[in-house]
Amino acid sequence: MNASHHPSDDLLWSYASGSLDEPSSILIATHLALCPACRGVVAKAESLSGELFEDIQPLDVGASALNSVLARLDDEDDEKFESVPQISDAQHDALGLPRPLKDYLPNELGNLSWRWLGPGVHYSAIETQARGPKVGLLRIAPGTKVPMHGHSGNEMTMVLTGGYTDATGSFQRGDVEAADDGLVHQPVADKGEECICLVVTEGELQPTGMIAKVLQPFFRI
Ligand SMILES: [Zn+2]
Repeated sequence: MNASHHPSDDLLWSYASGSLDEPSSILIATHLALCPACRGVVAKAESLSGELFEDIQPLDVGASALNSVLARLDDEDDEKFESVPQISDAQHDALGLPRPLKDYLPNELGNLSWRWLGPGVHYSAIETQARGPKVGLLRIAPGTKVPMHGHSGNEMTMVLTGGYTDATGSFQRGDVEAADDGLVHQPVADKGEECICLVVTEGELQPTGMIAKVLQPFFRI
């Protein structure tokens, strides 16, 4: 099934020209792996700008990145964890993680270090080389309501497995939602399947309700 929510043309053109920051490039490249329509836009942008795709290399990672990720995981030993449901082999197969994302992960999904953010919500940061927005994976248990929140900067979310719905629509595998600082929303994961998303956040998530204020870990992505 093809994605029905896509990144803006501005983002795709920035990606094609190599001017997009690394975290956002990971998300766009992951979307492109699943979306022929956006691959077409990027190909057009590249041919018009005369730049070769191979010259952009937004996903080139050196060995130092892996070491820094592992070092960071060690640092996070004192973080609060709750037992995380295992990801089954069947889920792994269904996930079919796109290569651009897989190359950034130090481990299989089930073996990543998942930080507890709130009931049914876990986060695993992805280390990048340059300063910029944060990028990571969010796991939301089936049917879970993520706390209502706003944003102090742009946020991009791409669904890898499962799906979620907020006031702006329903998002399934491959779909990208772009939230700016004007959007206040409460994503709710679809029932029946865990929702795993790739998330790029520029600013802070901002609590808007009483329950959200209690769930402070959620706002320290
Ligand atoms: Zn697309």
